Amino acid sequence: VPETADAVLEGLDPEQREVATALHGPVCVLAGAGTGKTRAITHRIAYGVRSGVLQPQSVLAVTFTNRAAGEMRGRLRQLGADGVQARTFHSAALRQLQYFWPRAVGGELPRLAERKIQLVAEAAARYGTRLDRGELRDVAGEIEWAKVTQTAPEDYGAAALKAGRDMPRDAAELAGIYRSYEQHKAERGVIDFEDVLLLTVGVLEDRPDIAEQVHRQYQHFVVDEYQDVSPLQQRLLELWLGGRDGLCVVGDASQTIYSFTGATPDHLLDFRLRHPNATVVKLVRDYRSTPQVVHLANGLLAQASGRAADSRLELIAQRAPGPDPGYTEYADEPAEAEGTARRIRRLIDSGVPAGSIAVLYRINAQSEIYEQALADQGVPYQLRGAERFFERPEVREAGIALRGAARAGGNDALLDDAVDLASQVRAVLGSMKGGAWRPEAPAGSGAARDRWESLAALVRLAEDFGRARPGATLGDLVAELDARAQAQHAPAVDGVTLASLHAAKGLEWDAVFLVGLTEGMLPITYARTDEQVEEERRLLYVGVTRAREHLQLSWALSRSPGGRASRVPSRFLTGLRPGSGGLTGRFGGAAGTGGVERGSGSYGGSGAGAVARRRRRTSVRCRVCGRTLTQAGEIKLMRCEDCPSELDEALHQRLREWR
Ligand code: ATP
Ligand code: MG
Repeated sequence: VPETADAVLEGLDPEQREVATALHGPVCVLAGAGTGKTRAITHRIAYGVRSGVLQPQSVLAVTFTNRAAGEMRGRLRQLGADGVQARTFHSAALRQLQYFWPRAVGGELPRLAERKIQLVAEAAARYGTRLDRGELRDVAGEIEWAKVTQTAPEDYGAAALKAGRDMPRDAAELAGIYRSYEQHKAERGVIDFEDVLLLTVGVLEDRPDIAEQVHRQYQHFVVDEYQDVSPLQQRLLELWLGGRDGLCVVGDASQTIYSFTGATPDHLLDFRLRHPNATVVKLVRDYRSTPQVVHLANGLLAQASGRAADSRLELIAQRAPGPDPGYTEYADEPAEAEGTARRIRRLIDSGVPAGSIAVLYRINAQSEIYEQALADQGVPYQLRGAERFFERPEVREAGIALRGAARAGGNDALLDDAVDLASQVRAVLGSMKGGAWRPEAPAGSGAARDRWESLAALVRLAEDFGRARPGATLGDLVAELDARAQAQHAPAVDGVTLASLHAAKGLEWDAVFLVGLTEGMLPITYARTDEQVEEERRLLYVGVTRAREHLQLSWALSRSPGGRASRVPSRFLTGLRPGSGGLTGRFGGAAGTGGVERGSGSYGGSGAGAVARRRRRTSVRCRVCGRTLTQAGEIKLMRCEDCPSELDEALHQRLREWR
């Protein structure tokens, strides 16, 4: 913990310091990826609190995901600024809504609808329309879009046309289903994800007394990733502020990747118009990535167009050079997965921790083949956006077992030989009814493997906890687990991260593998308009800028071994990948030395090993949430019945993070 408030400013560059010390009035930070935006606002809060200017409980920091909120809280604690609220828009709104509901409306807040798709189907039926599964998801996406843009059913048609929405049905029909959905929900007494914000806005607008109470509580608002704020979130923010000046926003218009759900960088780009007295700070020094990665990121930005691109800032690398980004072309997808897994194996063998490596892809359906390939190489991995850790059946079961053992205290025979906390946990998990846990992995796959990984993560958590708190008891651990379950923080599993590009926002890794970079995947087939294609380019920019040191870009010419080589590398790589014209200068040609590699993999071969591997690939996971699928219909779709289509996957990614 820094000794003084001024010491909090150490480790910030002059512009970041300007952000951190501008504690009054509106502040807007416009800056590219890796320039320390999140760091600057975290230090700003800490500096404000440590210098006594900001009361910790009067600050509300809004982040994009719960994970980011947790990281910010952890950072603030390290900087000696405990007690600051860091939340997502949704979790902050939900808390306020739960608190004020009895006074504003009476009774308990209605519960959140679990099976939204089902509700949309029923609403459509009430309206007299039958929708197939694909249409249902698209219609649900349109309703969500209408709500976050605060568009009423009667205005939907005109607004959707103006926004260039791809309407899955006739506009009047969609408006009718939307209206019937709202009615249906009200009759059922449930609310949806968007209602949480809408209702909070409604309560604050209708009840000046409640708004005033919120204003008394919060005086300072800090918003990260402001380029992806939706009109509804912006409205909520304005109500929270109530015309006051205590607002600091940071964002990068070039990282706008949620505009298809209604988010818009306009609020960021127009900040100065709305707040003429704002302090505007631009950061251009990139502290995250090597010059080679920064060069590639700048090259991508140079080709971008549209409003977000007009405001782009060239990044200036601060770090020492590292390896050149690599480009690899594979014959087919299994070969790409195997080749990637082999490279990862080599990186780990050379000392790069698995936890600082990520494989990023466009849609979650791409994860399964990488999971298998990593498992074949004996590399641990974790999926982001998969099932919530503390809700997994085996983790709940383990919680019950640990609680029982903690209650029994020292009188449990089971724990006699277990001296330290972690061995006690191992002993308890080893005696669980639903299948005992053993320290060494069962060469299993699918559900058995998931189960083992969850329990292993609990043991690691116990080890860390025991080290940090010598003398801690099982009871202490159970309390810690409860606290974490509350905060939805899964223990950090030290494995390779598998994540969609949307889920990778704001994060960083030493080594990043961007896979599946073909036309049709990035840009994805359904990106048709120029604006949609630009958003896909920004997704690639987000992916590239996650890498600190190693960056590998790859694609496969066909889907399966022996298939027709009908795929071509993503258009976004033209001019950037070697042999496609393009970059010059010191780090020109990006891959510099090697050019595009021809990757090989024996995955699709016909040897006994390949056959055995194929046989092992029996479990099919939901392409959206990662759950292992068991129903035939779902397996065919490669998606749970309740999971959204890829189109609204990103929105639901947020939903999962928030939950
Ligand atoms: P993104 O746009 O991806 O969200 P960001 O602008 O929020 O990126 P940060 O995540 O805050 O950037 O910082 C990127 C990395 O650079 C982090 O590892 C951070 O610790 C480091 N960093 C930021 N500022 C400095 C600095 N002044 N000195 C050293 N390292 C820094
Ligand atoms: Mg950030």
